[in-house]
Amino acid sequence: MARVLFINPGSEGHINPTIGVVQELISRGEEVVYFTIDAFQDRLERTGAIVRTLDGQKIIKAFISGGRNHLLERINGLLHTADIVIPSVLEQIEGERFDYIIHDSMFGCGRLLAQILKLPAINSCTSFAQTKESFDNMLEQLSKNIPTEVANQINDEYQILTTRVKEKYNVGIHSPYEVFCNPAPLTIVYTTKEFQPTGEAFDQTFKFIGPSIASRGIQENFDLTPLKGNSLIYISLGTVFNQAIDFYQLCFEAFGNANHSVVMSIGNQTQQNDLGEIPRNFIVKNYVPQTDVLKYAKLFITHGGMNSTNEGLYYGVPLIVLPQSADQPIIAEQVAKIGAGMKLDMQGLTANQLREAADHVLNGTSFHKAVSNIRASMQKSGGYHRAVEEIFEFKRQFDI
Ligand code: UDP
Repeated sequence: MARVLFINPGSEGHINPTIGVVQELISRGEEVVYFTIDAFQDRLERTGAIVRTLDGQKIIKAFISGGRNHLLERINGLLHTADIVIPSVLEQIEGERFDYIIHDSMFGCGRLLAQILKLPAINSCTSFAQTKESFDNMLEQLSKNIPTEVANQINDEYQILTTRVKEKYNVGIHSPYEVFCNPAPLTIVYTTKEFQPTGEAFDQTFKFIGPSIASRGIQENFDLTPLKGNSLIYISLGTVFNQAIDFYQLCFEAFGNANHSVVMSIGNQTQQNDLGEIPRNFIVKNYVPQTDVLKYAKLFITHGGMNSTNEGLYYGVPLIVLPQSADQPIIAEQVAKIGAGMKLDMQGLTANQLREAADHVLNGTSFHKAVSNIRASMQKSGGYHRAVEEIFEFKRQFDI
């Protein structure tokens, strides 16, 4: 048995794929100490992990304090979170021994902690993976239009923050890539090489294990019976960028009283009462058991979060992607490129356009063919079982 230190503050999309991995690690005899935020404590305790918490509000505040307009500012934001995450983890594990660390690819300063604790590290990547080259190219492109004065300010702050980390913990940071992508000797990527853009560019240290979908248990207050046998459309903008009353009402207009059943997840930031009258063929909830609903869906209208996209494709559901932010525009493009759905722009979208797009995807044989191909490759990719195989291979290499 080895002791595993897991660092993953969240959000939900960063947590969900790790649940199956942790359950499987524990069933194979590992002891997992999992650092996350309060919101995910119960969910992770159900896996059998020992859960310790980090202050989510302070982490978000520190992250935002770097600025949100440019990628380099977000990198500085991540460096600011070091002041919250690292002391808290070090204090809570004082005197304990760990054999290896698994950390999120973005949040939680995992690479720094691995170096401070001198632990072999595994990177848990819930978005598309990035090589240093592709990341540097993207950063260069995105930095082109920043006014020099602003760019200089951001770069000065980056220097101050990286120097501070070096002084405090004697750990060097050699590039923004290290901060944003937390590279490690093994990276587990929760999608397939076929779906990953330029999948062939990644070396053997990146393992594309496919969607990691573990049973989350059906929510008690959600009855799946009315969904079976109907032409079901599922709509969700995920758990982060989902404050969109106008869009939800536009969906009522597009599909209200049509021949479809519609399940719409509106997130915790919108109340059902704010939406006005709900058409009779809609089930509207703040949160639904998405992977269960997708088993019955014929079309998924999604924001293109990495998990939602993987989950939709895993269950063979064609997608209409309305990207909101972050990596979603890239994911939307990739969906369109492989023919598994359409990308639509949320801005200026009308109910007519959405209905026509839905008809087009629902009736288009080419979408169904592409989705069935990607579904097959996703279902045979191994998921969390394969992730744990790779982790055990990594343990052998590191003599753990
Ligand atoms: N999810 C869910 N029920 C909902 C909304 C979301 O179970 O009503 C889950 C979904 O299955 C996925 C995650 O929340 O695993 C959302 O992650 P994603 O990367 O798609 O988007 P994010 O929320 O990070 O924008």
